Amino acid sequence: MSYIVAIDGPAGAGKGTITKLVAKDLGLVSIDTGMLYRCHALAVLRNKIPISNEKEVAGILEKIDINLKNKNNKQLVFLNGEDVSTQIRTPEVSGIVSQTSSFPSVREKITKIERKIGYDWLKEGKNIIMEGRDITTVVFPDAKVKIYLDATPIERAKRRCRQNKRNGINQSFEEVLQAIMERDKNDMNKPVGALKKAPDAIYVDSSKSSVNKIKHKIISIIKQKTKEIEQ
Ligand code: C5P
Repeated sequence: MSYIVAIDGPAGAGKGTITKLVAKDLGLVSIDTGMLYRCHALAVLRNKIPISNEKEVAGILEKIDINLKNKNNKQLVFLNGEDVSTQIRTPEVSGIVSQTSSFPSVREKITKIERKIGYDWLKEGKNIIMEGRDITTVVFPDAKVKIYLDATPIERAKRRCRQNKRNGINQSFEEVLQAIMERDKNDMNKPVGALKKAPDAIYVDSSKSSVNKIKHKIISIIKQKTKEIEQ
């Protein structure tokens, strides 16, 4: 029987990197839901919608097409057919996404998209690993494996700086740390879909461990949990 691995955690905890590596080793389909919220935020920016206007911010989702595709083991996101996988990573998008994603009407629509993507893969007989902020609590609360991946804000800011450098984004460490703490605050205080550890999620702290160690830890949790299902 197909299963879902749900992973939540704050920005820079390593969800993206770990999810992709685990997916590759176990043959799971990995889904990064932050890309959906970022794509929506990009559409809000491009259409010059005032970010405090919930009706318009949510309404744009009726007029645009957001699509995820996997190419060479990489997840890409398309806005009205255009590949915007790079454009969604700019500081402008990062700066508004926790606000545009805080409206309940936006979350309701994007949660539907996430569930459809998940169920479509399950119907094809695939196992999935989906990461975000509310996957273990709202999107797939009954997922067979639920993990909360965390790290200290300083460690997360260091990682984001390295990632920015690779993507040609120039921001000081202080700016990145400030932005991460701001985003944590917004993400943890959303009226719906707030970032929090589900009571039955397994807590994994990645602050002091290598990527490889965390990958193996998560793989062993998945193997253990899915063995429990088969028994
Ligand atoms: O994971 P990433 O940092 O790319 O996500 C960008 C933003 O999208 C998060 O800071 C959060 O505000 C929002 N998000 C969300 N729910 C998810 C995934 C992302 O609210 N499931």
